[in-house]
Amino acid sequence: MTDPETLAVTIVDGYVDEPAHFGVPPYISTYPRYTAGALVDAGVPPTNITYHTIDGLREVPGRWQDVDDADLLIYLGGMTVPGKYVGGTPAEPDEVRKLAWTASGTSLMGGPVKFGVGDANEGATETERQDLDFDFVAKGDVEAAAYDLVESGLEGFGNRMRDVTEVTRWAQDGAFIVEQHPNHPDYLICELETSRGCAYRCSFCTEPLYGNPTFRPPPSVVGEVDALSDFGVRHFRIGRQADILAYGGDGEAPNPDALRTLYGGIRDVAPDLETLHLDNMNPITIVNWPEKSREGIRIIAEHNTPGDTAAFGLESADPVVQAANNLNVTAEECFEAVKIVNEEAGWRPGGTAENAPEWGPDAPNRLPKLLPGINLLHGLKDEREETYERNRQFLQRVYDNGLMLRRVNIRQVMAFAGTDMSETGAAIAHEHKSLFKRYKKEIREEIDNPMLKRVAPPGTVLPDVHLEYHQDGKTFGRQLGTYPLLVGIPGEHTLGSTIDIAVVDHGYRSVTGVPYPLDLNSASLAELEAIPGIGSRTAGDVVINRPYESVTEAGVDSNVELVQFATTRPSSRAE
Ligand code: SF4
Repeated sequence: MTDPETLAVTIVDGYVDEPAHFGVPPYISTYPRYTAGALVDAGVPPTNITYHTIDGLREVPGRWQDVDDADLLIYLGGMTVPGKYVGGTPAEPDEVRKLAWTASGTSLMGGPVKFGVGDANEGATETERQDLDFDFVAKGDVEAAAYDLVESGLEGFGNRMRDVTEVTRWAQDGAFIVEQHPNHPDYLICELETSRGCAYRCSFCTEPLYGNPTFRPPPSVVGEVDALSDFGVRHFRIGRQADILAYGGDGEAPNPDALRTLYGGIRDVAPDLETLHLDNMNPITIVNWPEKSREGIRIIAEHNTPGDTAAFGLESADPVVQAANNLNVTAEECFEAVKIVNEEAGWRPGGTAENAPEWGPDAPNRLPKLLPGINLLHGLKDEREETYERNRQFLQRVYDNGLMLRRVNIRQVMAFAGTDMSETGAAIAHEHKSLFKRYKKEIREEIDNPMLKRVAPPGTVLPDVHLEYHQDGKTFGRQLGTYPLLVGIPGEHTLGSTIDIAVVDHGYRSVTGVPYPLDLNSASLAELEAIPGIGSRTAGDVVINRPYESVTEAGVDSNVELVQFATTRPSSRAE
């Protein structure tokens, strides 16, 4: 019998990306936190639990010793939606196999990896179930497996799901693990689970494999936020749910009181939080229960932090594709839901809810509180050329009606065993590859760019942009939050630091920004040139003629309202 008190456990996080759960840095998913809590509950001392991310192992090869030395190695990972990530690189199947081979002790694998493994984490792929040479694969909840495995003296476990009492306990007991994440404490955001499962059955989606929705009651989630705050976490995303509006209801209809208790409770236990965002909201809930949904959306917008996004899974605006894939919302219904979110939550800090959606010259210079995002999926059953045009028209209609979208996510399907799409696989996605490429470019140019100018016009301030990498003489960074904008800043700024920026220009899904406020007495040539309408000659003149006592004194003629975000500080030369 193995004594839990003496057990050394290493958890390796290969990252997860599921339709309603994200865990690539700067995000940490629920899996490592719950698993650590389950181990503690089973009697393993927290000091015996080591946590590494896959990037952490790549960067410091000596850390592989912890994989070898552990009595129990737990690998957590799995990508069930395709993606490319700035903050980390998910574990490749070969690396996962190497983990199993390196482990001298017992090895357990869990997380969405149980749904299948593709050759690469990209769209238009098919997957198959593999054990990747691990001793055990958790086919139920990996945290329950970890608990039962330790209880059994590492002999085995039944594949089961955990219950609400367990998750409440484990979420709090495992909060300590965040301290071992390389991004802790400043650049780390915790994904929070409010429910699992879904009332609907879209053909491609792995979420229904969790069954009908089950909710964690507010005290369970709030207690977890409290514990995470005690370990220095200031950024949270309520992203582990299929539909935040359905929270605490009958599975489909909204329950605004439950939302109020949840959001109010989080604010009470974490008054210093810096980010509170969400992820998924089902547009059909808004259309079927508009008044209750409006109330729920207002509650969210009162408690969240700006720049929040409610991702809508429209997936296709083509009725033929909708019918063939059991999609639950029509283009007309989704349009109505986009409008309602804009009306209730499309106001900006410093503005007024009555004016929502707020955009244009008089709008405050902050991101709106909450906007819809649209997910479109290609390669679904019965997709045709017309599907692409219908999707494009839908987005154009949203723009033409003066509404805002925070982002449009266009992907190709990944086919998983156990979903209806497994029969069709990636065949249609392959067939339509060139059509898809052309259409994606069109959407980026014709919709994303003008929409971004509406959502974040020049002068919009984005506080606390974390600087992540240098490229082509620029520094790139993002705010912490849901679907943060990528910001390119002229010049090479210190990586790992955080600065406020003001938007000066737009790409398709990214912006150019300059430090905010931009001091004309010390700004670099590159920063001045980044302002639309200021060429290199004017920028040079600004530099030569400083210092200035006011922005107007600089006499700069640009395409943007410079006074909105520039300043003149007395420089040492000026004094
Ligand atoms: S509504 Fe459809 S896509 Fe969204 S979680 Fe449910 S099954 Fe998945």
